[in-house]
Amino acid sequence: MDSEQFDIIVIGAGIAGGVFAATQSKELKILVIERTLSEQERIVGELMQPDGLAALEKLNLGHLTENIDAQTITGYKLIKGNENFAIEYTEIDKGISGLGLRNGKFLLNIQKNLSNLKNVKLIEGNVIELLESEDGIVGVKYQSDGNTIEAKAKLTVASDGHNSFFRKHLSKPEKKVESYFMGLVLEDLKLESPSLGNMIVTGDAPILVYPIHSNGYRILVDYPGEKPPRMGTKSIEKFRDDVSQILPEEMIASFHEAIKNQQVQVMPNHQMKAQAFRKKGAVLLGDSLNMRHPLTGGGMTATFNDIITLNSKLKEVDFQDEAQLEKAIQDYYNSRSAKVESINILANALYKVFRDEDLKQACFEYLQKGGEKSTGPLSILAGINKSKKYLLKHFFKVAMQHPTHFVTKPKKQMRLYKNALAIIRPILKDEEKPAIV
Ligand SMILES: Cc1cc2nc3c(=O)[nH]c(=O)nc-3n(C[C@H](O)[C@H](O)[C@H](O)COP(=O)(O)OP(=O)(O)OC[C@H]3O[C@@H](n4cnc5c(N)ncnc54)[C@H](O)[C@@H]3O)c2cc1C
Repeated sequence: MDSEQFDIIVIGAGIAGGVFAATQSKELKILVIERTLSEQERIVGELMQPDGLAALEKLNLGHLTENIDAQTITGYKLIKGNENFAIEYTEIDKGISGLGLRNGKFLLNIQKNLSNLKNVKLIEGNVIELLESEDGIVGVKYQSDGNTIEAKAKLTVASDGHNSFFRKHLSKPEKKVESYFMGLVLEDLKLESPSLGNMIVTGDAPILVYPIHSNGYRILVDYPGEKPPRMGTKSIEKFRDDVSQILPEEMIASFHEAIKNQQVQVMPNHQMKAQAFRKKGAVLLGDSLNMRHPLTGGGMTATFNDIITLNSKLKEVDFQDEAQLEKAIQDYYNSRSAKVESINILANALYKVFRDEDLKQACFEYLQKGGEKSTGPLSILAGINKSKKYLLKHFFKVAMQHPTHFVTKPKKQMRLYKNALAIIRPILKDEEKPAIV
């Protein structure tokens, strides 16, 4: 079988692959293979945190969020029962905000941009195999238009998303599913603060509501557990009734309309630490390498930061020099965590905090105090502040905000502290595992 030769092959023109391919040197010959080039309706990757947007702009691709009716997001409203308060991103002062968008439309922009690049060949096809020699990965086999084709490259980028078929060849994938998100679009909703993301923590699992276009808000309802929710008529009716009891009054009518007219979309919420193998000629990028709970909308921000790290390592590399290329990949795996660990830790820890009634209340009260107690944690969620130390300071302050309770309510305070430790310890241990195994 004849095979065409490239410098880089990218599997998947999604958030990771599409942005990575567009930011490589125009001297490099790149093949991008994407399974579906038509518009998808996905409930993932719709809230871009300020640092994600800043990273995309740093990659000179900020324009890809234009002309899709994306909505500025200026912060969050936290809602618990009848109480609520807003926290705005402090970065707004510097002109940096978040963005709510439709993932399918954003992907179309990413793919359209690729198809305009002379050094990139974008093909609709399904990659079915990594080609491997004794030395490492040398390319891929893919199917397109009924043909099976081989293509070879110095570097193969496996950016095939959360359900990656190829990660098992390139890493030790220890994935966990802690919950599912059930998604709908709320239309004709008139909210008091339309540019805030809403985090509703009234029930025993969180609900998110944020704008994705000028007349649509994404609602994501968390369904805890390893097994997906049932989707029969009775289960959907129960879902409608349960969620209606939790939602703020102004969202209920729109939610009922959505349930009546739309199919509930369900996605697993994965968590997976990046643990790559040393393998020549290939690299993992995006969800195929690393995943965190999507509660904080950190996936795209982590991915764009990874692209910045990988690009910085590849910058001076001569693609004909295997040793240089391999070193760049190892350096990327070993150094990426500085830019993504706080995003990962916060996402996984906050989800668990919101599943513990006492800690959730403590967290709500802490954030409600305002000042640095609210803007500090939000700056970590926004991805702007990447200090793990700063994140841990706030995490423990949530559990210990009333030190006198060790005397006045010792049992309750000890439980709070123990539960906080039980949450954070395994998450930190996971995050500290070696990047290359
Ligand atoms: C429910 C949910 C909500 C989320 N919400 C947010 C959010 O609000 N904000 C945020 O930042 N992150 C969010 N995320 C995470 C975010 O969606 C991901 O981190 C991001 O999409 C990762 O990009 P990716 O390129 O790795 O994957 P994708 O964007 O999924 O791209 C993978 C691409 O590979 C293609 N592909 C797969 N297999 C093959 C193959 N064999 N051959 C060819 N092509 C292939 C697919 O068609 C796809 O286009 C959410 C995740 C979930 C589960």
